Amino acid sequence: MLTYSNYSEKISQLKNKKLSLQENVQYFLNQIKTKEHLNAFNFVFDDAIEQANTISKKIEDGTAGKLAGMVVAIKDVLAIKDKPLTCSSKILKDFVSIYNATAVKKLIDEDAIIIGKTNCDEFAMGSSNENSAFGAVLNPVDEERVPGGSSGGSAAVVAAGLCDVSLGTDTGGSIRQPAALCGIYGLKPTYGRVSRYGLTAFASSFDSIGPFSNNVEDAALVMEVIAGYDKNDSTSVNKGIPGYLENIALDKKLKIGVPKEFFAEGLDPEIKESIETQIEKLKSDGFEIVNIDLPHTQYSIATYYILTTAEASSNLARYDGARYGTRKENPKDLIDMYTSSRSENFGDEVKRRIMLGTYVLSAGYYDAYYKKAQKVRRLFKNDFDKAFELVDIILTPTVPATAFKLAEKMNDPLAMYLGDIYTTSANLAGIPGINIPVGKNSSGLPIGMQLMSAQFNEETLFQMSYYIQKKLL
Ligand code: GLN
Repeated sequence: MLTYSNYSEKISQLKNKKLSLQENVQYFLNQIKTKEHLNAFNFVFDDAIEQANTISKKIEDGTAGKLAGMVVAIKDVLAIKDKPLTCSSKILKDFVSIYNATAVKKLIDEDAIIIGKTNCDEFAMGSSNENSAFGAVLNPVDEERVPGGSSGGSAAVVAAGLCDVSLGTDTGGSIRQPAALCGIYGLKPTYGRVSRYGLTAFASSFDSIGPFSNNVEDAALVMEVIAGYDKNDSTSVNKGIPGYLENIALDKKLKIGVPKEFFAEGLDPEIKESIETQIEKLKSDGFEIVNIDLPHTQYSIATYYILTTAEASSNLARYDGARYGTRKENPKDLIDMYTSSRSENFGDEVKRRIMLGTYVLSAGYYDAYYKKAQKVRRLFKNDFDKAFELVDIILTPTVPATAFKLAEKMNDPLAMYLGDIYTTSANLAGIPGINIPVGKNSSGLPIGMQLMSAQFNEETLFQMSYYIQKKLL
């Protein structure tokens, strides 16, 4: 059993020797063994105990970093030096990274312990973690159901108590959606807030890296560490990073916008009721609730899937058996080497996206699909800019339904895509969003509520989430 409920408690127990870091890491390694059937880790690092030895000395000497002894799991799309980086794909099954992703390096520099790499949908494409060469991940809350995706492993390991926090990535909801389905917190930062250096690209103008946690404080602390400008990512932004944790207490009643488009047909009635209950509680606590419009919401799925498949088709061109990727042995000729390496080693969903993306970018269709979608993307940004002139925060459900059964949607990609209806808008507009676990439905499945804020206003998201965690839940 863990004796702490957030990192601040953990570090004070470590400092006054109520907790041994070696024992703590061993506890997590044992838990990982007992929960092996969840299939949430692609790799568990046997040097975790060694890391604990080094860091406990530093804690004793008073030289330890800001995350000393925090046990972290990393989605297997992020580079860790000398460790495998597979993106849960057969095409990268033998790839070992030669450097650290900036987000990972920043965690290590602050003395976090990296315990392993988590399973995910292949190249982060999916909403159920079933598109993985390592097999599906089970939802720890109900093992017959999916944990969500694409960062399903990162959500499952935190929900199952196999580490303190984890990193995931969110291109269209892959942090917020699995957080909602597993009943934990998950933050997608503003695009550009966290460097993407060392993150395997899916859709470069959408991809963002963020934390999963069991409480708001730990997510805030991790963000403080991983955020910031990086010369290795030209889209990372040079803006000051507030003390998210230090400033986590909310000191005023905010204006909260509720967009009707997010409560329309297709939303599970139990989720609707649960979110409406939270809205009522906020109202009676003195928060002003404002009805707002996000009129382009109905186009989010189409716009998202046109633009991200286009970017993916270009980004994944490098896996050709020559530059990167498993190479077909004894090919007939050069063309056979390329085509066989790709056909034999990419999974179905990745192939579907490469084909869709190539199609929307091809001569004759480019204007009708890709260019049009780029213009619509701008309208999303405009909608949110307008909304944030009126309100501080936007509150919505995170997903229209709770965790579904394994295999239920695998033969219906459209149904799978439609589940991303409430999360993709934030990626189109580049704004941050967080999932808050607000309760369970009548079958005991987690319900998630999403908060979104204006770009680079993660601080307000953390404050509002912390208020809700402390006062309403
Ligand atoms: N489910 C979405 C997709 O399949 C989102 C994925 C993501 O955010 N990486 O594209």
